[in-house]
Amino acid sequence: MLHLQNYLNGQLVPPAAGRYLPNLEPATGEVFSYLPDSDAEDVARATAAAEAALPAWRRLPAEDRGRLLVRISELIERDLERLAQAESQDNGKPVSLARTVDIPRAASNFAFFGTAAQHFASETHFQEGVALNYTVRHPLGVVGCISPWNLPLYLFTWKIAPALAAGCTVVAKPSEITPYTAFLLSELCIEVGLPAGVLNIVHGTGPGAGQPIIEHPGIKGISFTGGTKTGEQIARTAAPMFKKLSLELGGKNPNIVFADCDLAETVRTSLRSSFANQGQICLCGSRIFIERSIYEQFKTDFLAGVADLTVADPQLETSRQGALVSEAHLQKVLCYIALAHAEGGTLLAGGQRVMLDGRCTNGYFLQPTVFEGLAPDCRVNREEIFGPVVTLTPFDTEEEVLTWANGTDYGLAATIWTRDLNRAHRVAHQLHSGIVWINTWLHRDLRTPFGGMKNSGVGREGGLEALRFFTEAQSITVKL
Ligand code: NDP
Repeated sequence: MLHLQNYLNGQLVPPAAGRYLPNLEPATGEVFSYLPDSDAEDVARATAAAEAALPAWRRLPAEDRGRLLVRISELIERDLERLAQAESQDNGKPVSLARTVDIPRAASNFAFFGTAAQHFASETHFQEGVALNYTVRHPLGVVGCISPWNLPLYLFTWKIAPALAAGCTVVAKPSEITPYTAFLLSELCIEVGLPAGVLNIVHGTGPGAGQPIIEHPGIKGISFTGGTKTGEQIARTAAPMFKKLSLELGGKNPNIVFADCDLAETVRTSLRSSFANQGQICLCGSRIFIERSIYEQFKTDFLAGVADLTVADPQLETSRQGALVSEAHLQKVLCYIALAHAEGGTLLAGGQRVMLDGRCTNGYFLQPTVFEGLAPDCRVNREEIFGPVVTLTPFDTEEEVLTWANGTDYGLAATIWTRDLNRAHRVAHQLHSGIVWINTWLHRDLRTPFGGMKNSGVGREGGLEALRFFTEAQSITVKL
């Protein structure tokens, strides 16, 4: 059976201690490969390789670094189908989603940052007749990039590409639950001829391989995407070492539907924003607030759409809902469904595990689930479920819906549906969310700052924000 390897100092190598972990296919519940169960020794070797590679990599002109990154992007495009199949097998998402969203975006991440670094200019402040001040942005050094399982290659490359473009060298860890495409990426980096040690990929668990990355004194900054609890633990470890931190954490995003919206478009997109990737996207809008005058109409149309979301083997082109990522995660989501009943919710759709036939008999499938009648401040409406579960709640006034939308500890993303542009802007400015979409969802321009407020994170990624994160500003003043 396939044994994935770490990518250290330009080579694929087994873990130092020789231990491996089973990697399961969520659609079948079967082991389909093994991944290195790396530890502090592997991280130490990866960091030493990254430190050795740093001087030459940071000296390389941005254009030359960029050329290598663009070449990686081209190879991802060349291997799109193979990578999409691998992502679907490893994560449980429909292969059609991996083919149209995850893998193209991973290619764009490398292409975008490969060229962005060439447009990254630093500032000059001229004091007439007195002094010239200019800013130099030095690469931060060796950085750690740690990513979650929901959009495996998409989020892994969203961190690695800007770090490399900025002239940093990297020690990266994908989620132990979805390591496969990160391994395939290391093969592409070897094919491209990325210099040894510039990127090092260490596989393993959070405590076993992630924590040593956070603790290693040679790693100067950490870009982390994952759960808020893990983010807390990382901040606790890294803060006393004065490491630079970018934390992209959980969300509980409101989707606000005003009566004057384009209802057909709102329903179509709300189905996606509720259930894409089985609701396992940090940006999914799991709390849908609907202005009372159109509540019943929205509910009828939305439930009709939910009935069309075929839960099926993710390898099938007809599959609209694949498997959840693991048995443990499925059980967590089922607990929230039980809680929704206990908190007085009325089940409108779904709510049950799905048992499929054939190769998927033991897969982790769940019906897309919709509740109504839950209080806006109940636990189901405040805590991140990260699965195919949404709540519908009617509202009467703008003030009321703003209070509810802002009434969680999270502040990642929000969606507003209305034809009244004045209202759209007014509401957007009052939402405590790092990202607000008006009459759209998941529309991404890689130049825009990306990140959350409150417990959804610290710092911003994307575009120049990412290049600023991975560099350190130095101010130089020349007396005239
Ligand atoms: P986790 O926080 O469990 O894990 C994220 C990554 O951190 C994994 O690689 C994990 O390894 C690793 N890790 C775990 N513990 C430690 C540790 N002590 N030190 C270093 N690394 C560690 O998140 P999930 O993978 O469960 O992802 C889901 C979460 O991610 C959700 O809360 C979701 O909202 C959030 N997310 C946020 C996004 C954003 O942009 N704001 C985007 C996507 C997801 P391992 O998996 O091997 O345990």
